Amino acid sequence: MKELKKVQSAIASCRVCPQMVGPPVHGRAILSPVFLLGQAPGPREAALGRPFAYTAGKTLFRWFEQAYGISEAQFRERVYIAAVARCFPGKGSGGGDRVPNSLEIANCGHHLKRELAILQPQLIVPVGKLAIAQVLGPKIFRAGMLLTDVVGIKFNIEFHSQKMEAICLPHPSGLSSWHKKEPGKTLLMQSLQLMGVQPAWREAFRS
Ligand code: SF4
Repeated sequence: MKELKKVQSAIASCRVCPQMVGPPVHGRAILSPVFLLGQAPGPREAALGRPFAYTAGKTLFRWFEQAYGISEAQFRERVYIAAVARCFPGKGSGGGDRVPNSLEIANCGHHLKRELAILQPQLIVPVGKLAIAQVLGPKIFRAGMLLTDVVGIKFNIEFHSQKMEAICLPHPSGLSSWHKKEPGKTLLMQSLQLMGVQPAWREAFRS
């Protein structure tokens, strides 16, 4: 726990990416076998002091509540929440949130690597295409694969030198309709059901 808090303190004081708006946002220091990896915080998370604190988070936590009866508070107490980038990247040219660039992803990857080395999670849950691409390898989407090819399936992977299982979720952003219509709706349910039967999930939510 001491080592994990040290990493979180390094994240909180990190200002290495000049284009990032910041300040960095991180979840609680939870020693969990389940690791949730988001993309990057939105514009409100820093002020609210936690990841997935606004509308996308409401959708994400509703999925777990509907699938397992787990409240947002329970989820935050049992699952380690990280992200590909810990700072709000600002707005992109299209008006949506800017996607972190490869240097920013690499910079923040140093924090991620340290967290994974400490926690050695059995199950990682990447949320959204950017996080999925990091976990499964960026080539997966360059090779023409779509979200429909990766959501609803369990992968055995090696990520930052750690072996683990990965189950992907779509991004819960209100701007995306992927998870609201078929086949996304069914694939999302399949991912949630798969998560629930994993030993790591059961361990995390054992009362
Ligand atoms: S995105 Fe990550 S590496 Fe970049 S300044 Fe924020 S915390 Fe540091």
